[in-house]
This record gives sequence, C-alpha cells and structure tokens, in this order.
Amino acid sequence: MSDQEKEMQDVDPYKPYKGRLESFDHIPQKGRDKDEILRDLSFMAKEENAKWKDGKVSGTFYHAGEEHRAYLNKAFSLFSHVNTLQFDLCPSMSKMESDVIAMTSKMLHGDVPEKNNPADKVCGTMTSGGSESIIMAMKTYRDRARNEKNITAPEIIMPHTAHPAFDKAGQYFGIKMVHIPVSRPDFRVDPAAVEDRINGNTIALVGSAGNYPYGLIDPLEKLSDLAVKHDIGFHVDGCLGGFILPWIEKLGYDIPKFDFRLPGVTSMSADTHKYGYGLKGTSVVLYRNNALRRYQYFNVPDWPGGIYASPTSAGSRSGGLTAATWASMMYLGEAGYLAAAKSIMTVADEIKKGVNEIPELTVVGNSTFVISFLSDVVDMFHVNDFMQTKGWRFNCLQLPPGMHFCVTMPQTFVPDVAKHLIEDLKEGVAYARANAGKVAETTALYGLGGSLDGNQQITELVFGYLDYLYSV
Ligand SMILES: *Cc1c(COP(=O)(O)O)cnc(C)c1O
Repeated sequence: MSDQEKEMQDVDPYKPYKGRLESFDHIPQKGRDKDEILRDLSFMAKEENAKWKDGKVSGTFYHAGEEHRAYLNKAFSLFSHVNTLQFDLCPSMSKMESDVIAMTSKMLHGDVPEKNNPADKVCGTMTSGGSESIIMAMKTYRDRARNEKNITAPEIIMPHTAHPAFDKAGQYFGIKMVHIPVSRPDFRVDPAAVEDRINGNTIALVGSAGNYPYGLIDPLEKLSDLAVKHDIGFHVDGCLGGFILPWIEKLGYDIPKFDFRLPGVTSMSADTHKYGYGLKGTSVVLYRNNALRRYQYFNVPDWPGGIYASPTSAGSRSGGLTAATWASMMYLGEAGYLAAAKSIMTVADEIKKGVNEIPELTVVGNSTFVISFLSDVVDMFHVNDFMQTKGWRFNCLQLPPGMHFCVTMPQTFVPDVAKHLIEDLKEGVAYARANAGKVAETTALYGLGGSLDGNQQITELVFGYLDYLYSV
C-alpha cells in the first residue's frame, strides 16, 4: 500500500475535511478573505460531485444537468433574500406557490373530484420537503378527527414499507401508527389485513405511489374503497413517484390509478425536489378539499408580536426555493417531464432486464424506475460491499436483506451506465458466493434490525453517529 493510499484509509469518510480544511469552533474574529472562502467551498463541492457525476449513485441527485442547475440557481438568486411568509411584501410568492400547487394538482388529476362533488376542489400548500408534507397531512387528520369525531386516541394504518416520515408524525403528534407487513411474493399490503385493523379510532390509511424500498405502488384502489367504506382519510404518498409516475403512465406503461382519480384519496404528497427537478427544500401537499386543508393551518390571534398565521410547520422559508421550483416546472413543461421519464425508463428497463438475467437475484415486484432485488442464494450485503468497491452507491434494504437502485437523470447522462452496473453486479454475486459464511461489512449495521433488542441497539448506535456528525 502506498503512503497516499494509507493516508486515504486513515481519513474518516464522514469527516474527510479534518486536517485538510480548518475547523471553526467560533466565528472568526476578523472575516476571512472571500476568495479563500469560495476556494474552500469549491474544494468540497468538487470532491463530492466526483462521487455521483459518473451515474453510480442511486436516487439522491434527481436532475443534476449542469445547464438546468445553473438556470435554477439564477431563478433562486432573484428571490434568495425573500421570505415566503411575508405574504404582504412578496405577493410573487403566493403567485408562484399557487401556480405550483395548481399544476401539481392537475398533474395528479386533482380536477376529477370536483366533477363528482362540487365541494371537492383539490387544494394544497407548498412545504419544505416530503417529510413536512407527510407530517402536515397526518396532523391534519388528527385535528379533523378530534374536532369532527371526538377521537382522542387516533390511529393511522400504514404499510410497513411506507416512509419513516409517517412514524415521525406519529411520534410528534401522538398518533398510533399501525404497521401492516407486506405480503409475499408481491411485497405489497393485503387490503384485507388493513381492513382487519380498522377500528373506531382509525382516522386514516396510508399508501405509497411508489414506496421507497421497492418503488412499488400499493393496492391503492382497494385501500381507497376501504377509506370510503369506513369514512376515514386516505393519504397517498407520491413524494417519490408523484412527479414521474404520471409521465411513465403517459409513456404507455401499465400503471394502476394512484391519484385523485380514486374516490377515497383525501390527500397526496408529491416532491418537487425529487422528480420535479427543483432545488432541495420543496414539496407539495394536496387535499381533496379546503375543509380538510383548514386543519393544517395555524394561527395565534393574540400574540403581542402581531397576528401570526402560517400554513405549514415552517416559519420563514426562502423565496429562492419557491422561484426555482416554479422555474423548473415552467421550463420543463409536460414535454420536458415526459422526455425525462422516457430516458429514465430506458435505463431502468435495461437494469431490470439485466438483474432478471442473474439467476441468484430476484427483482421485487413490478416496479418501474426503482429496481430492487433480493436473493435466496447469496448474502446481499456481500454484494453491496463489492459494489461499493466499484464506486456504486446502492441503497440497502433490510428485513429481508436487499438492495435497490433508483434511476434518476444522472444515469441518463452517462453512456452505458446500465451495462456497467450489470457487469459489476455479476461480479458482485460471484464475490458473495466466494465469501459465503463470512460477515459482510454492510452487515455491521444492517444485521441487527427487527428484534426489540436489536432495534434499541441500532437506535443507540445511530444517535451516537448523529452526535458525532455534529462534532467540530
Ligand atoms: C423521499 C421520500 C419521502 C420524503 O422525504 P424527504 O426527504 O423529506 O423529501 C417520502 N416518501 C417517499 C416514498 C420518499 O421516497
């Protein structure tokens, strides 16, 4: 091993700038030179961009075309100083957010409910991200049930595969989140199992389009029927799929109905900062009608600082993010979103076909832009270890062990990404076979989950890790 390699090994991957850039535990007494500061920033950005520019990172960077990014930055810069909460000073914000919400609603067939019931005019708000959209919707259901049904011990039923933001909302707002395991072999919830858990305290159901682990769309039509039958809410999490499934459907893929076309869907989340190709920090939450949205709003009428109202849990937000989101949708248009979905699906289909041809691996369900796979034969965590050495960053799945690759635009910019991925994956499977019986590095964290004890150990480990990340 060369000295340089040894040095690299000693670098902590989570604190790679230690010793290379100065750390600061106080504000520098005299401001530093601008050029020097910008040099530090460029240094870090350049190093990190190198990790995904070759298309080897799953998800994470959704558009990342340099021209698009420069354009978004320009839009951002015009409103970077603006606070979206200042409705009076910056009417541009309400104009742009209303446009974004209305366009998102139309894309998700938000015009359909009104045709059946004039009171159901789909509406929504922008939020700081998918988690906030979900958290706001859960709060909305809690407050509605308390107000209209006098429910004080609320429960929400979700597939175990739904995003952790739902559990976060449960913890924050005192809602019991009832997890339904997914069935095999299709890895989706059985609606009958969901119905079994509905009781007088159930305020809403959750389904995903598609879910994060497998990219699968839950049996939403059946869940929608259950919501109607039991007169409860039904949130469809389209954070991941909301801005790409409509276009995949238009391309002719067989996509079941997943949006406001379903009569039981009362709210949806869709992330503009994922396949909307905006900047990080924006999402849309939609409601079937304004009566429901009202439960999301917040107001303190008698604060000495003035009347304080806010539509979401955030206070001030950057107007730059709103402007960049609006600019992204304006520029891409339907044609742009459709073309993006087409190039993404070309890569995704090729990856799916390749994985299907590897006998040791099983693709999970009928997914589209996320390809996830498991194995009955080899240890998937060995496969992941190997793929990491080749520069790939898959997302690890657990219970059961697996991996997924979420295809985004960076894969479409680099020729032959799918081909190289499959070549390396075949080698990864061979590596896993050769190392059977040994403990994979990935297993260190992922081997623990699932038991009460193991879950506690993981939480302790992960919180310690968060503490460490915040150390200077
Ligand atoms: C990304 C994602 C979310 C929300 O996550 P944020 O990081 O808060 O935007 C919710 N659900 C699914 C399925 C997701 O993939």
